[in-house]
Amino acid sequence: MTTLFISDLHLEAGRPEIGMQFLAFLEGEARSAEALYILGDLFEVWVGDDDPNEHYAEMKLALRSLVDSGVPVYFMHGNRDFMIGADFAAETGVKILPDPHVIELYGTSVLLSHGDAMCTDDLEYQQLRLMTRNPQWQAMMLTKSLEERIAFAAAASSKSQNRNASLSAEIMDVNQNEVEKLIAEHGVDVLLHGHTHRPAVHDIDLGERAAQRIVLGDWYEQGSVLRWNESGYSLDVMPR
Ligand code: MN
Repeated sequence: MTTLFISDLHLEAGRPEIGMQFLAFLEGEARSAEALYILGDLFEVWVGDDDPNEHYAEMKLALRSLVDSGVPVYFMHGNRDFMIGADFAAETGVKILPDPHVIELYGTSVLLSHGDAMCTDDLEYQQLRLMTRNPQWQAMMLTKSLEERIAFAAAASSKSQNRNASLSAEIMDVNQNEVEKLIAEHGVDVLLHGHTHRPAVHDIDLGERAAQRIVLGDWYEQGSVLRWNESGYSLDVMPR
C-alpha cells in the first residue's frame, strides 16, 4: 500500500485542467492508496466554507467520494486556503491537521508542514501570516458578506503577486536555520513540505545524523506527487 502526498494545486475555475487532473487522480490512483495527504494550497483562494463556488463544490464531492470509499484523506492549511474550516471537514470527511504535524511512515518519522512558516526571511509575510491565522481575525472576516470577502481576497492576492515579483528567490524560500531547528526539535528523519513550488529532495546535515527535506511541486503545468511505501519513496511528476 502506498501513501500519497500532494500540495499546491491552486485549484480554481479559471484553470480547469488542474481540476480535471485532480479529479482523475482522486478517482484513479488515490482509490488504492493507504492514505492521501494534501499539504496546503489545494485551492487558489478560500473565503469561507459557505462559498457556493461550483468548481469547489465539484472538488468537495470528489473528496467525499474518496473518503467514503475507505481512503483516509488529510488536509493541512496553506497560505491560500487557511480559511478552510469545520464545515468543509464535515462535508468532505477530510481530517484537518495542524501545521506542523508528525507522522510515522513505514518506520520513518516525517514532519509535515505547508512550508510558509519556514520562510522567515520574509518578515512582512510572517506578520501577515500571524494576523490571518488568528482565530479572532478569521471570525471577524466571516462576519463580512461573501462579496466583501471575495473582494478582499482578490485585493490581497494581487498585492501579494506584486510584492513577490519584487522579492528575491532566496527571501521567498525556506530559511535553512528554521529547517534545521524544526527537524532537531521534533527529532524526525524527514521534513516534507510544499509552498515554494521547488520540488526537490535535499540532504540535511545535522552533525550527529542526517535528515532529508522533501519539497512537493505545484500543479500549474503538471501534477506532482510523493509516493511512499514500505520500500521507500519517490517524488514524481504526473504529466497531463
Ligand atoms: Mn503556499
